[in-house]
Amino acid sequence: MASQFKELKASDIEDIAAGTTFRSKVSYNRGAEKSEKELKQSREKHISEQPLTFSNFFQKIQWINTTLILLIPLFCTVFIPYVPLQRKTLIWGTVWYFCTGFGITAGYHRLWSHRAYSARYPLRLLLLFWGSGAGEGSIKWWSNGHRTHHRYTDTDKDPYNAKRGFWFSHMGWMVFVQNPKLKGRTDISDLLTDPMVISQHKYYFYWLAVSAYLFPMAVAGYFWGDWKGGLLYAGVFRLFFIHQATFCVNSLAHWIGDQPFDDRRTPRDHTLTALATFGEGNHNFHHEFPSDYRNALKWYQYDPTKQLIWIMSKFGLAYNLQRFSQNVIEQGMVQQKQKKLDRWRARLNWGVPIDQLPVIEFDDFKEKSKDRDLVVISGIVHDVTDFVENHPGGRILIKSAIGKDSTAVFNGGVYRHSNAAHNLLATMRIAVVRGGCEVEVWKTAHRERTDVDLVESDGKKIHRAGQQPSAVRGHFGAPGA
Ligand SMILES: [Zn+2]
Ligand SMILES: [Zn+2]
Repeated sequence: MASQFKELKASDIEDIAAGTTFRSKVSYNRGAEKSEKELKQSREKHISEQPLTFSNFFQKIQWINTTLILLIPLFCTVFIPYVPLQRKTLIWGTVWYFCTGFGITAGYHRLWSHRAYSARYPLRLLLLFWGSGAGEGSIKWWSNGHRTHHRYTDTDKDPYNAKRGFWFSHMGWMVFVQNPKLKGRTDISDLLTDPMVISQHKYYFYWLAVSAYLFPMAVAGYFWGDWKGGLLYAGVFRLFFIHQATFCVNSLAHWIGDQPFDDRRTPRDHTLTALATFGEGNHNFHHEFPSDYRNALKWYQYDPTKQLIWIMSKFGLAYNLQRFSQNVIEQGMVQQKQKKLDRWRARLNWGVPIDQLPVIEFDDFKEKSKDRDLVVISGIVHDVTDFVENHPGGRILIKSAIGKDSTAVFNGGVYRHSNAAHNLLATMRIAVVRGGCEVEVWKTAHRERTDVDLVESDGKKIHRAGQQPSAVRGHFGAPGA
């Protein structure tokens, strides 16, 4: 403090006198320096935010991923003419394709990311080995990204954000350097205490080399002498196809298909996606019920991953298979269907809501009927002027009702009109009559309307068949349509 006071200048003393202490002034200055530095850093945009140019192209690419996903298979196409594809190698490559695919879907995805079931050690080890051969990073890294995807679906923090386009969600997120500022956080504490997961993460490169390349090569080489073909077809090209197939869970599954459970976000259900992804096609279902070990609920839908888990459970290798209750699943379906119905009915004309109609006296109605063709049904005035000539029952019948209360006539006194007639009539409403009408009928109609609680923001209401205000049942008992 003594040295600080030695440095005091006249201006500092003035500041002290003015109430700005020396200490706060110093810290304020330090803060200013710091914020200037931070400001400079923040002004420098991350490489992912900078526009693509010739000079920054190399910095924008995630070279390790790109080499694995694109460059190695591209380079290896050179060897195709020199390494003929043997039938046995093709079959083996296909088998290994499915094994490594299941490593991702049954292992990385449903077991480790979602804990949709539990697995005994031998199965976990097998899935770990298979999953490593799919070349999609360690379980820890993959699950962290996937849980983040579920937590922040369709937002900037979603690593495969489908809102950024099909190619970004397919492989752009792997090929280009991503902005660390957008990295969403999620809980993977359960995986951090799993020695198998930690060990695989630590030695991932070895797991990858063995499972993706060396093992498929060794099988083809040892059993039928096709070392080169094993490496090229069951290794390199199989890996290329497995990447493209499993990437479809993030791209195709968020782009094509139906949304039977919730349409507020992008996940969708499609058979094509299921075929490409070993049964991860019902992605709309999956995002709603992520910890369900099933992806397809019906037996005939393609979900071999579910079947594999189920078979493993019969051998005692998988257990604690998670299912959401049928009740909660169907609730989601009903709500989504209702939402679609609501949108549909909102587009239709159900007539001016009765509480928005002007109230007129019965005498006024009679007076106005001299100029326009007006009829009262259930206390509501309808202007049928433009409809008279088109009345299916003929002009004379409808004309005879003009200027009168025709509730009984309309509801069976002369003819029990169809449901469509009630709907059509509702669109011709113009007013409500006060007094002079059949009050009891009016009350009944109102009572029947009370269960109709579907109201649009503009007051529009849906009327179920036979429950229109104009429809009065059981009062007149005449022959129906
Ligand atoms: Zn998704
Ligand atoms: Zn998932």
